[in-house]
Amino acid sequence: MRIDQKSFSKRLINWYLHNKRELPWRETTDPYFIWLSEIILQQTRVEQGLPYYLNFADKYPTVFDLANAPEVEVLRMWQGLGYYSRARNLHACAKQVVEEYNGKFPADFNKLKSLKGIGEYTASAIGSFAFGLPTPVLDGNVFRVIARLFGINDDIANPKSKKSFYEVLDQLIPESDPGNFNQGMMEFGATHCTPKNPNCESCIFSTECIANQTNQQNQLPVKLKKVKVRKRTFNYLVVLSEQGVYMKQRGPKDIWEGLFDFPLLESETFSLESALKKEQLTNLVLLDQSEPYKHILTHQRINAMFWVVQLSDFGPFEEILGDMKAYNENEMLNLPKPKLVDNYLKEHFFSLHLI
Ligand code: SF4
Repeated sequence: MRIDQKSFSKRLINWYLHNKRELPWRETTDPYFIWLSEIILQQTRVEQGLPYYLNFADKYPTVFDLANAPEVEVLRMWQGLGYYSRARNLHACAKQVVEEYNGKFPADFNKLKSLKGIGEYTASAIGSFAFGLPTPVLDGNVFRVIARLFGINDDIANPKSKKSFYEVLDQLIPESDPGNFNQGMMEFGATHCTPKNPNCESCIFSTECIANQTNQQNQLPVKLKKVKVRKRTFNYLVVLSEQGVYMKQRGPKDIWEGLFDFPLLESETFSLESALKKEQLTNLVLLDQSEPYKHILTHQRINAMFWVVQLSDFGPFEEILGDMKAYNENEMLNLPKPKLVDNYLKEHFFSLHLI
């Protein structure tokens, strides 16, 4: 290693203290708020996560408030952030902290890691920011900074590569201020050593950085694994009844577990006819057909069409409708829903004034 540990951490922390973005969770060492921000910010940009953090912190000022909230309310608050398993885990973790630790997050890496929804990264972040534990964090930003600084070519998509990155970080992290070191590493990657056009000219490490010296900024870090994207076409049936519109809560092991949407018929292309034929259904009147709605998830591209239908006979639909309930407009607004469904209702359906 060419960079001296003390000089590195001193410069990094100094840079961080002068350049950090002012964010509410950086003004506290309360593990509850730090944990809340970390869960919200997983796979989410700061600008997108900030209003959610503020809403959650306001509505649930203590872990007890969050633990006692109904799950459906927590999901509703989470609506639009995606990755809904995070919201369910957030709620379950709050309950666990209340029940097992009397509402106090444990100041121990392994105990933190054993809590619902808390992995290695989050346990390190809470441990170092709230309790001063010398546990390095390794997220996408930190991978990039370390790979470039030290010229590490290991594929960061390969879990085995973590070891070499942790070895470097273990040598760099100072016992005296691990929290600001970790925050500094992440902030440096997020705002200075960015994926495209890193600011090498005014970089505090420009003379030592291997990527800068060898002009490999665009090659590092190495990430080989490609995510396979599945394309799906959804025909949503918006079934009207006198009581409102039928909606169902999605079941376990589903990306949208706990959220409400409509009866869904998946097909190769948009086609109410073929979807209905598949279900041997004919007795309905089509009242409206939406424009296609696109929804992008990490591993899926969803194209959805919403077909508003009125039934003349509910009999053949019973199997599809199952134990679904009809909801009025106000109830529909308050149910937790996938963003895709929420957008459709607000942008299109309610303006039809069918219920
Ligand atoms: S010199 Fe450039 S590539 Fe190296 S750490 Fe600084 S910003 Fe990143």
